[in-house]
Amino acid sequence: MKTIVFATGNKDKMKEIREILSGAEILPMNEIGFDEEIEENGTSFRDNALIKASAVADFIARHKPEYAEAIVLADDSGLEIDAMDGMPGVHSHRWLGERTYEQAMQDIIRDMDDVPEEKRGARFVCAIAACLPDGEKLTVQECVEGRVAREIRGKEGFGYDPFFFVPEYGCTTAEMTREQKNAISHRGKALRAMRDKLMQEGQL
Ligand code: IMP
Repeated sequence: MKTIVFATGNKDKMKEIREILSGAEILPMNEIGFDEEIEENGTSFRDNALIKASAVADFIARHKPEYAEAIVLADDSGLEIDAMDGMPGVHSHRWLGERTYEQAMQDIIRDMDDVPEEKRGARFVCAIAACLPDGEKLTVQECVEGRVAREIRGKEGFGYDPFFFVPEYGCTTAEMTREQKNAISHRGKALRAMRDKLMQEGQL
């Protein structure tokens, strides 16, 4: 069975990737002994995903020959808001500062009070990078389009989900079940696109 090391410590992401890449053994980076802090200083989602995957692949090359045949995957995601020139983008987490997500969303909702419906566009974006055993690198990027809602709604999900309204479904991503969100989400789409790409490359 193929081994994939996923450069994350996030349990929800591990669950999602295990559901989508069910034919492989998926290990989080800490299980192979990687516990370094990775500085995500790229200017795009793809750059940051590549920085993370490369850091773990380098670690394997230096210290873990037993994982030399593993594929290393990493993701990077965030929210782009049209009325804010694409912010918070790659800074989606750092941009909170001392605020909670609820406070940051209320600030944006207030700042966008005058913005009409057709200009409230936003998208969650997810890039996934793969470092293959032969050193080749692959990336995919997917998104889900929506709008900044005028109020916070829903308790599922995390982060900016409660104000991310998806018109086709008439609700925010925080009002969707986990399965519904995975079916349409930036991360679900990107994971499936990476799975397909790895299959085309004969890696899975
Ligand atoms: P990460 O790179 O996947 O850790 O995501 C960076 C940040 O983007 C998160 O901390 C959230 O602020 C935001 N984000 C990414 N994906 C989602 C999502 O599915 N829902 C809500 N917020 C998200």
